[in-house]
Amino acid sequence: MDLKQRAYCDRILRVNLSTGTINTAPLPAEAMPLVLGGKGLGAWLLYTELAPHTDPLSPDNLLIFSNGPLTGTTAPTAGRFCATTRSPATGAYLDNYSGGYWGQMLKYAGYDALVISGAADSPVMLVIDNDRVELRPADHLWGSTVTEATARLRDEFGHDWQSLVIGPPGEQLRNVAGIFNETRALARGGVGAVMGSKRLKAIVTRGNRPVRVFDKAKYERALQLAFRAVRMSSKTTLLSREGTVNILEIINVMGALPTRNFQQGQFELADEVSGAAFREHNWKKDYACFGCPIACGKWTVPLEDGKTIEGPEYETTFALGPNCAIGSREAIIRLNWWCDEYGMDTISVGGVIGFVMELYQRGLISAQELDGIEPRWGDGAAAEALVEKMAKIEGCGEWLAQGVAAIAERYPEGKPFAMHVKGLEMPAYHPSAAKGTALAYAVSERGACHLRGAPLGELFSGAADPLTITGKPQLFRDTQADTAAWDSACLCLFPGYGMTLKELWQLVVAATGFDYPTPADLQLLGERVSTLARLFNVREGFNRAHDTLPARNLSQPMGGGPAAGHVVELEPMLDEYYRIMGWDQNGIPTPERLRELGLAALLEPAAG
Ligand code: SF4
Repeated sequence: MDLKQRAYCDRILRVNLSTGTINTAPLPAEAMPLVLGGKGLGAWLLYTELAPHTDPLSPDNLLIFSNGPLTGTTAPTAGRFCATTRSPATGAYLDNYSGGYWGQMLKYAGYDALVISGAADSPVMLVIDNDRVELRPADHLWGSTVTEATARLRDEFGHDWQSLVIGPPGEQLRNVAGIFNETRALARGGVGAVMGSKRLKAIVTRGNRPVRVFDKAKYERALQLAFRAVRMSSKTTLLSREGTVNILEIINVMGALPTRNFQQGQFELADEVSGAAFREHNWKKDYACFGCPIACGKWTVPLEDGKTIEGPEYETTFALGPNCAIGSREAIIRLNWWCDEYGMDTISVGGVIGFVMELYQRGLISAQELDGIEPRWGDGAAAEALVEKMAKIEGCGEWLAQGVAAIAERYPEGKPFAMHVKGLEMPAYHPSAAKGTALAYAVSERGACHLRGAPLGELFSGAADPLTITGKPQLFRDTQADTAAWDSACLCLFPGYGMTLKELWQLVVAATGFDYPTPADLQLLGERVSTLARLFNVREGFNRAHDTLPARNLSQPMGGGPAAGHVVELEPMLDEYYRIMGWDQNGIPTPERLRELGLAALLEPAAG
């Protein structure tokens, strides 16, 4: 099978930063129809190549960038790529996805994946220019912010290059650190700290190779159908107009907008921070990632001091707004700016500030412990002072930047309301008001996650009643499998508001020529890939005990709003979900299910 005629480059680039060794290897040809690319390829490489119990911040950890067969094609949103590693925040499997303009550049340079191992003695950058790949000193960039480093690299290399960089929190191995392609981020789980632990400041990439699809005529037809589905969807139109924040008002109406560190599900100032309000007062132009017909990104009008951002997105708005009771759009923009400028995950940073505000509300932390800052609910200036400390790793920022779980170890009385799962801060949907999403948070392999199959339609599409657990395990299983297929083909998830799995399947089959007779085969692939990520966690010691939620969701009834009196009935959902997945009662996939999914045979050489 010639993968080069099937939308792949058939090359993995491997760079060992300890030895300086750089080489390439072909893709695992037999495995590719089973894992496809993106998430599937990243999970397969991590599972088969990373030794169990590797310290996430040791040179032995792997940082894997992978793209999918659709990356770099003409498919809608084809700039997507994936980064996979073992997370320092959770100790679990971690994958992140980003749009922007770097993913297709790696593909055009001739690589389906980049596997980085080892650690350099001093700061370096990796330069990928088609076949020419080299390591160069990056001492001059160390300590610089995301925009500073990006601008210097643009000056040094030119505008036809794309870069990935980390900021100071990544260099200093903090759990809130991400990896940035200009304004777009691989944000979660401390992936930036893994890059920092390798003393890798930047990856600069340029390429000009074509991508060849398997059946051009079939692909062109699939492309027409995909674009029609995206263009004709009212939801993608709303995304274009009001960005991802367009859903904030309806989530608030449903009582699922986490407010004051999830103490409430409705925010009294929701109107002030809605998509419509940002559109009217703060946004001046749209931003689109590579190949995107939607353009959900928005650039703001500069603030008085010149600060401007591409954002805020819905998750950022929740985390830095209602979660901290901040109803000022300008304050949210400022907080977002600090996160983007210094390379931090807005969800985790907002989770930290909300948690610290509640610790302060309850008298469990003093201003003295926070370098004199008094973090009262709604105080944007106090929040900004704390975020600046985190960004610069100064004073209390040194430990705040390790995230909610680490702070809760320092202040154990706060554990019942430390809003994280497996060490990852919670996203923007209140679990007690969205039971299928609650199951997704509890089970998702990277910790609390809204992007690994949470059935968010239960909140904003009428797909199901968000307050009941009936049918939710099956709904989560299906959305998780669909999402994993999407992440393995490597398209942004938002075209999925118009496209169905059928349109994705048509594109994938035409591009790869793989034998997937029906869309259900792609869904099965998604389940296989999710299960592979689960197997990684099982090998690291994760089981049912880790598939849980904070006490706030399990035993403290919601105080008001549409979900008043509700908690999450997690155990029955776990029982049913494990049964549907073919896992035992402890959440371990059974040998029989692994055989059915084709994983037993796929992993045999690794097991041996
Ligand atoms: S929909 Fe938004 S996040 Fe997705 S590719 Fe387009 S601009 Fe990027």
